Amino acid sequence: MPDTPNRGVGGRLPVNGIGERLAAVRGRIEAAARRVARDPGSITLVAVSKGVDPARIREALESGQRVFGENRVQELVQKTLALAPAAVEWHMVGHLQRNKVRHVLPHITMLHSLDRAPLAEELDRHLQRLGRRLDVLVEVNTSGEATKWGVTPCEAPELVRAAARFDTLRVVGLMTVGPNTTDVQAVREAFRLLRELLTRIRDEGVAGPEFRHLSMGMSGDFEIAIEEGATLVRIGTAIFGPRA
Ligand SMILES: *Cc1c(COP(=O)(O)O)cnc(C)c1O
Repeated sequence: MPDTPNRGVGGRLPVNGIGERLAAVRGRIEAAARRVARDPGSITLVAVSKGVDPARIREALESGQRVFGENRVQELVQKTLALAPAAVEWHMVGHLQRNKVRHVLPHITMLHSLDRAPLAEELDRHLQRLGRRLDVLVEVNTSGEATKWGVTPCEAPELVRAAARFDTLRVVGLMTVGPNTTDVQAVREAFRLLRELLTRIRDEGVAGPEFRHLSMGMSGDFEIAIEEGATLVRIGTAIFGPRA
């Protein structure tokens, strides 16, 4: 990959201000997009604030960050309450248990981790009651690692189809967590697989035109993800520093 002026600033140098870290991450997102002639405006930065206290999230807010992600329901709900009424969009990016659906739904605009049909059913039940819809991404395990959530690439079209049957669910794309490896090529292949899967599912008419998003890329691999077509990147430590 070509070098860029911002390389490494977000992760390693002793930059403490969240505003500076955010600016560095945004710069890296822009540079990665330009390398592959993509519009940086087509990429949404989801600041993953798990383990980060509300005061530091507020710093990010003050630096203009508007979309935040959490992976635990209780923590997500607490933070939405602590930060209300800030104009913030919350995304649930972690595994969601059925019995937590009703607690989290009032607070989120997107679920990145739809990974089974019964969860879609439960979401629908509560969304009907609330009289609203929810954007969802189907989570795919692109690396085959046993520790990862998500359906297999083979199962993905079926789950997209099942979820799209519910009027309350807008299936807007796919999500994956890259493999846990320093092998850049393996990471790139996982992201490429997700992009090809998205295209295939769309071309087969399984989902509508809103099915176009790829949520992939975290602090260690978001530039590769953007080069492979990510429209949502989920970044925690590069913005907020290492988690305790
Ligand atoms: C924690 C988490 C992230 C962010 O990870 P970082 O390496 O801190 O950027 C992204 N996606 C999911 C699903 C996570 O749980």
